[in-house]
Amino acid sequence: MVPQIVQSIKSIDELASFCKRAGFVFPSFEIYGGLSGFFDYGPRGVELKNNIKAAWWKAMVHDREDVVGIDAVTVNHPKMWEASGHVSSFTDPLVDCKNCKARFRADQLVKDVLDSDVSGMPLDEITALLKAKNVRCQKCKGEFTDARKYNLMFKTHVGPIESDENVAYLRPETAQLIYLNFKLVQDSARLKLPFGIAQIGRAYRNEIAPRDFLFRVREFEQMEMQYFIRPGDNKKFFEQWKKERLKWYLSLGIKKQNLRFRPHKKEELAHYAKQAIDIEYKFPWGWGEIEGIHDRGNWDLTQHSKFSGKDLSYFDEETKSRVIPNVIEVSAGVDRTFLAFVIDAYATEKERIVLRLHQKLAPVKVAVFPLSKKEKKITKLAREIFKTLKEKFVCYYEESGNIGKSYRRMDEIGTPFCITVDFDSPKKKDVTVRDRNTMKQKRVKVTELTKYLEKLLQ
Ligand SMILES: [Zn+2]
Repeated sequence: MVPQIVQSIKSIDELASFCKRAGFVFPSFEIYGGLSGFFDYGPRGVELKNNIKAAWWKAMVHDREDVVGIDAVTVNHPKMWEASGHVSSFTDPLVDCKNCKARFRADQLVKDVLDSDVSGMPLDEITALLKAKNVRCQKCKGEFTDARKYNLMFKTHVGPIESDENVAYLRPETAQLIYLNFKLVQDSARLKLPFGIAQIGRAYRNEIAPRDFLFRVREFEQMEMQYFIRPGDNKKFFEQWKKERLKWYLSLGIKKQNLRFRPHKKEELAHYAKQAIDIEYKFPWGWGEIEGIHDRGNWDLTQHSKFSGKDLSYFDEETKSRVIPNVIEVSAGVDRTFLAFVIDAYATEKERIVLRLHQKLAPVKVAVFPLSKKEKKITKLAREIFKTLKEKFVCYYEESGNIGKSYRRMDEIGTPFCITVDFDSPKKKDVTVRDRNTMKQKRVKVTELTKYLEKLLQ
């Protein structure tokens, strides 16, 4: 029986403080006062994050015949970003306070103050709207400048000379090097349309005002797959990938009622997209995007062909003709997905906080506790069990002497099973196995332990 008193996290602040306390996510550079928009993953967080990425890679690459992976660099050639449209279009509207010089993202400001959505609105109209509604600086009530474009890419220089010729950008998305490597990948992996190239990696956006914990950060991670198709097959594969991706979240335990599709309106489509849909998760404070599915048409390959002068077309054996493949992109934010998994699994019960994470995602699968740290027979057996089990599962060992507290700590990070070696164990050659969800305990023979857990954790 699952206890009935169940509460979830209510605010982003509550989520951030839970993540910090349980060792999932810490603010970066905290001893120096922090740096807005940067977070580090702690001991539990890195495990959960790695498990999410591994589950994605398995579903998207290893389980498929038509998708392969790459791992590309993050400091990227400026020409590539010109071709992709990012140098001119990867921007947010920015306004300055004429008085205190504070900078604001104009669309965010309109949303916060006027509660209206101006995505895609031309800059002069945003400026006019702010003036008409007399929107003032949130710090000093000063007047704003006209709205102007602000590029979100982090700029750097390659080599020792800081000149315009040596400019490079940290990638704001992982997709572009998949397009640039398209031919090499296709040739070397002997792929035929339709096929996909997947990548997991970091991306950087110099947000004007990072906020909301991991939801809008300056350094983050993406799990992306670009699916190359024959022109005209767009609709079919767009629908197919929508289904596949929803299935993935459900297979890892996210509740169905907490997921939905949200199609993009015409005016919010990115410059490269013909059609786009978000997969949104129902966070306690509202629906939020965790993944995007985009029909990018042949925009990227065409642009890179044009700018590089290299032929990026594909010879279709079936039709004996050259085509520029179209692309369906599926792109999930690792960090936001991470939060969705944590929130979906989180519950406060009468005497504990428990994360009912899918066992594949749980940072620790099995914890081993000797009931006494003084009794040598008990600790010796517990260590032997730990040594055997850690060959098969990610395990945790602790001699704390307070078993109740140890169970609580494991519940809080979602450990599916706790094994306790007690005073009867050395003689009877058995231990108790406690189930995280039900808190029920069962005695299991030491010799049968690995098999028993394998069955439950498979
Ligand atoms: Zn001001």
